[in-house]
Amino acid sequence: MKLTDIYDIDNRLVLENCTVCPRECRVNRFDGGTGYCGINAGFNIASICIHRGEEPVISGRNGICNIFFSGCNLHCIYCQNHEISQNSYLLQHSGWELQTVLDKISEILSEGVSAVGFVSPSHVVPQVKEIIKGLNSMGLKPVTVYNTNSYDKVETIRSLSGLIDVYLPDYKYVTPGLAFRFSDAPDYPEVALKAIKEMYYQKGSILRTDKNGRAENGMLIRHLVLPGHAEESKKVLLSIAEELSPGVHLSLMSQYHPTPGVMNIPDLNRSLYLEEYKSVVEYMNSLGFRNGYVQEMESHDTYRPDFRKDDPFE
Ligand code: SF4
Repeated sequence: MKLTDIYDIDNRLVLENCTVCPRECRVNRFDGGTGYCGINAGFNIASICIHRGEEPVISGRNGICNIFFSGCNLHCIYCQNHEISQNSYLLQHSGWELQTVLDKISEILSEGVSAVGFVSPSHVVPQVKEIIKGLNSMGLKPVTVYNTNSYDKVETIRSLSGLIDVYLPDYKYVTPGLAFRFSDAPDYPEVALKAIKEMYYQKGSILRTDKNGRAENGMLIRHLVLPGHAEESKKVLLSIAEELSPGVHLSLMSQYHPTPGVMNIPDLNRSLYLEEYKSVVEYMNSLGFRNGYVQEMESHDTYRPDFRKDDPFE
């Protein structure tokens, strides 16, 4: 089947003159990946695997079937998944047929996994929609998790209403200068806040779980504390408390690990200090967040995927 025939008319039009994400490159992605994300209209996936390393409420007892998309619409200089978001070797070798994607997910779901996570999906939302539709047409209705950097358009999040069960948005910065320096997106704070507000509008503060404590519906906001930037983290938390509610579910992450690309950048070339993380946790508590998850400080040793392996987290 031709790639253009896979998509419904709305998805096809948006990919032909790409406005999928806030970059609005307006390139024809059926002619190749010439936009900022570098990804064409295909199913460019670095890995589909069971992941047990998300928050317990997301991974559940049996893990989540995560789809790690290649490429990204942000170029964070410290990216923890830099192998797949920026590594051209992996990008060139990651084109899948839609049916192969669906078969692989179906195989994993048959092993007792009940949720599918779309990881870094902001530049491939049409592909995400076709995968969900394809699974549904096979009679499969897993819990769908949209695991995003939040550099998403409000219209995009609106269009996912009814398709996505759990939003897992990252909220990285509130300072445009930092967003420019670290992620090449000075408008990130404004864009991300609007996108997260739309998710909140759809889901509210309640994160509904099944009898085993696994998320079935709702939103969990993530924030990665960066070394040397605890004050920025506090501003992010204040923004969530003021703009949304301290009743939202929050995951405060300490797993930052310096990648080869940041070894010459002061602050980013080290792991987080315990005191930095503790000060952010204390501030989170002082704001009245009551549904916050915190991470063990050793987490930066355990979260180092190798996407050249069949199971990157083995
Ligand atoms: S999805 Fe990619 S090509 Fe489309 S607007 Fe965003 S960065 Fe550009």
